[in-house]
Amino acid sequence: MSLQIYLSGKLVPQEQAVVSVFDHGLLYGDGVFEGIRVYGSKVFLEQEHIDRLYESALSIRLEIPLTPDQMIKAVRDTVAANNITNGYVRLVVTRGAGTLGIDPQRTSNPQVIVIADSISLYPQELYDNGLKLITASTIRNHSAALSPRIKSLNYLNNILAKIEGTDAGTVEALMLNHKGEVAECTGDNIFIVKNGVLKTPPPEAGILEGLTRNAVIGLARSAGIEVQEVPLVRHDIFTADECFLTGTAAEVIAAVSLDGRTIGTGKPGPVTDDLLERFRNLTTA
Ligand code: PMP
Repeated sequence: MSLQIYLSGKLVPQEQAVVSVFDHGLLYGDGVFEGIRVYGSKVFLEQEHIDRLYESALSIRLEIPLTPDQMIKAVRDTVAANNITNGYVRLVVTRGAGTLGIDPQRTSNPQVIVIADSISLYPQELYDNGLKLITASTIRNHSAALSPRIKSLNYLNNILAKIEGTDAGTVEALMLNHKGEVAECTGDNIFIVKNGVLKTPPPEAGILEGLTRNAVIGLARSAGIEVQEVPLVRHDIFTADECFLTGTAAEVIAAVSLDGRTIGTGKPGPVTDDLLERFRNLTTA
């Protein structure tokens, strides 16, 4: 079935949703994006995603040709036009078409693209038993080079780490920062539970500040669980009681081994299960 895609001002059938080969989003990864869930026909964490998109754009000095309210309307219209009840929205803003040089001043017409589609999730088996991780040798981008807080179209850093995971037979891979501290996984944030305390790296560790991460921190605190945003190293993961990942697509999923070493009992733990349930309640609220 053909999807209706929002492309710079109107909804068009996917076959007609094309951008220029001179678009700097394609030529240089010059652009920003968001991945958003739709639950029960509602756009989940809508304002938070829009805020992060505009902050990413501001950081790379990309002026989005829509106001945030117009962007929200474009997202909602695209979801409605495709009858998406539970699905996924990819929101992309490119720098627009330019010359073959990198100069963003010589581009025009930033393209706003909204795709609303179904979502492919991790298999249930991974939620039941937890997933395995390896540590990628590719470190996370140094934040003074390209801040991981920017959700940019330039994902090669994560893709290279993802390939390492795939080669090792894992669906996710742990990325360290330039100091050797735990940063995040290729498309998910990471948490551990140690003696009842929830710990996760702070934004300064060089991570994308995930909205699922932030929601889980809020849920944990309201449930009376202590949460610390502190630097972590691999030792903390090897010796953790529980470990889990968070992300828009994954929601909350246990990680039960790292580099072949079992974490905790080797099964999803009670705090992870509890937070997944609380998170799912939030998505259906
Ligand atoms: N880190 C990276 C590198 C990501 O790409 C993502 C999103 N896929 C996340 C973390 C999780 O962020 P969110 O919870 O906002 O999806």
